[in-house]
Amino acid sequence: MSQKVYLDYASTTPMHEDVKETLYKAQDIFYANPEALYDAGYSASRLVQDATKQMAKQLDVFPGEIYYTSGATESNNMAIFGVAEAYKDRGKHLITTAIEHSSSLEAFKELEKRGYNVTFLNVDTNGLFDIEQLLQEVTKETLLVSLIHVHNELGTIQPVEQVAKQLKEKHPQLIIHVDMAQSVGKVPIDLSAIDMATFSGHKFYGPKGIGILMKKMNIQLQPLLFGGEQQQGLRPGTQDAALIAATSKAFRIANDAREDNYEHVAKISSELREYLRSKSYINLTIDETIATPYIIHYWLDDTATEIETYLHALSEKGIYVATRSTCHSKSVYEPNAVLVAIGLTPDESRRGMRISLSARTTEDEVAYFKTALDEIETKLHFR
Ligand code: PMP
Repeated sequence: MSQKVYLDYASTTPMHEDVKETLYKAQDIFYANPEALYDAGYSASRLVQDATKQMAKQLDVFPGEIYYTSGATESNNMAIFGVAEAYKDRGKHLITTAIEHSSSLEAFKELEKRGYNVTFLNVDTNGLFDIEQLLQEVTKETLLVSLIHVHNELGTIQPVEQVAKQLKEKHPQLIIHVDMAQSVGKVPIDLSAIDMATFSGHKFYGPKGIGILMKKMNIQLQPLLFGGEQQQGLRPGTQDAALIAATSKAFRIANDAREDNYEHVAKISSELREYLRSKSYINLTIDETIATPYIIHYWLDDTATEIETYLHALSEKGIYVATRSTCHSKSVYEPNAVLVAIGLTPDESRRGMRISLSARTTEDEVAYFKTALDEIETKLHFR
């Protein structure tokens, strides 16, 4: 069996062919520093400007509201630390959820150590926080509410646009940041009531090592990095025009294909869920009606094999899936805090699996996955 089935698209995606072409071609032609004061520099700078305009148009924001970073980790850190520091005279209270990606969660934990007061909102068994509870937590001291949109492990979609509108109506001074690293190409994006949003190129078939922070004009940030005047001094450092052009293209392609891809992914996702549901030892973690079909989370009960054995058996068959957020994949023996937050016991939380799909996932791959899983069950005698 030499087939390989990649089912870990939430971890990262392969680059789209057209994006690769743009990246490689532009890297040859537009290698000059976009800040350089000669022809080649101006051309690189124009490429950055055009790509940024295109991206801004897709997001319905101004080009001056787009900042390029090294990835979603940096964008989240830039937004969270940036607001905490810039507005500290106004208050020191911040609100987030208990199930944020570690690149937000750890930033908030660090801010707690630095004397800020952070509320980590609880979530229900589907990973949804309660808007009423959120509204109750807001005080005069609250600077920032930071929320994940599409959850990277659970697939839960938080109604962030609606929540942002409600929050802004009651508390216009509140700054709202949303981690949209998993949103592009999966769900519609509406930034009208959102002040800052995080994106990452490699999650939407773009290049790795580039992220975006959309920050509305009226929001102040203390920069994380100090240096040159690039990106209004907020995120200094030489820009890679080709990387930016490729990312903007990937964003447009993913956004444009969203509706067309949905039906195919919804179909294979529900087929896979039905198959998984038929297994007595598999528990589908959350209600599919509030989740994206692109991410299926389940956990194995204790009649099944150990999760490491299971993962290893899948990997031997060329099936690539995740047990948890890849950023924590090395800590398999630790309880998974996200799953504990939605009500699993620490032991159950170690037995989670995530399958993440793509429009590229074929019916053949799904069939191969099912056969492989059946064979693993028989081989490991846990049926
Ligand atoms: N936020 C979310 C929701 C994510 O899924 C990820 C990637 N797992 C990140 C942030 C971090 O992204 P990056 O790898 O681009 O730093």
